[in-house]
Amino acid sequence: MGIIDGKMVASQIKENITTEVQSLKKKTGKSPGLAVVLVGDDPASAVYVRNKNKTCNNIGFQSFENILPANTSESELLNLIHELNNDEKVNGILVQLPLPNHIASKKILEAINPQKDVDGFHLENVGRLVTGHSLFKPCTPAGIIKLLDKYDVEIEGKNAVIIGRSNIVGKPVAFLLLERNATVTICHSRTKNLSNLTRSADILIAAIGKPNFVTADMVKDNSVVIDVGINRLAGKLVGDVDFSSVVKKASLITPVPGGVGPMTIAMLMENTFRAFKNSLK
Ligand code: NAP
Repeated sequence: MGIIDGKMVASQIKENITTEVQSLKKKTGKSPGLAVVLVGDDPASAVYVRNKNKTCNNIGFQSFENILPANTSESELLNLIHELNNDEKVNGILVQLPLPNHIASKKILEAINPQKDVDGFHLENVGRLVTGHSLFKPCTPAGIIKLLDKYDVEIEGKNAVIIGRSNIVGKPVAFLLLERNATVTICHSRTKNLSNLTRSADILIAAIGKPNFVTADMVKDNSVVIDVGINRLAGKLVGDVDFSSVVKKASLITPVPGGVGPMTIAMLMENTFRAFKNSLK
């Protein structure tokens, strides 16, 4: 039984980036730049954007905050994306989702220069990921793989079961696990006999968005359980996994908070740093 400390792993990653940024700045006079775009005043999104800016400042990145009113038109937003695409100081562009309903997210994400698409959501980058030639791996799935590696979890040949098939977590993490030679099963709301499948998992990943959904009876003894969920329950943050019962059965488990969440931001910084280094070539 062990608890995966995502906060600690994320701190180490950010420390390493900080050191490298300092030495590259001495050599080139330049530092990485991340532009974050937020449309509207969704409180959760505002918190995410604030955290991203704070992290940028802490590790020596320039951060460019673009906070636009909820009534911003699609064409105004597209114009901003074009400006950021052409701005040399901006290496990464992140558009905070969800966007207001009158804006087609797909159109906006496709307008981002794929070389600056540090979220990895542009179709070109999705295609690269699926074919094993990724430029930027989506941050949450990349963070999950990094945690498994840091804790020496063998992936090759293992049964990995993912609950959730979203484009930002479930599907990309499936491709990353497949790339590492796991045998992958993706489950969703229409999956029959879910518990039978989850009980076959050596590595179980829950990305559902339902508090405490995965209970101990759904989990194999000594498996590794990764909880992606972030849910608010009675004023507290809880994951998709019933931590208190599953922790007794799993060999390793991520807590919420302090598991996958901090890794997502660390991977965003890593992707931005990669974009910066690519721009120097
Ligand atoms: P999403 O787009 O809502 O997808 C949820 C998935 O769960 C869907 O594929 C859905 O199936 C499946 N599902 C729902 N009910 C189910 C059930 N009863 N049985 C089996 N599958 C079920 O969510 P998401 O964006 O992937 O996010 C998932 C969770 O992770 C959320 O709590 C979110 O806040 C959190 N999250 C955390 C981070 C982080 O950094 N830690 C990052 C991203 C997301 P269908 O496709 O059939 O509807």
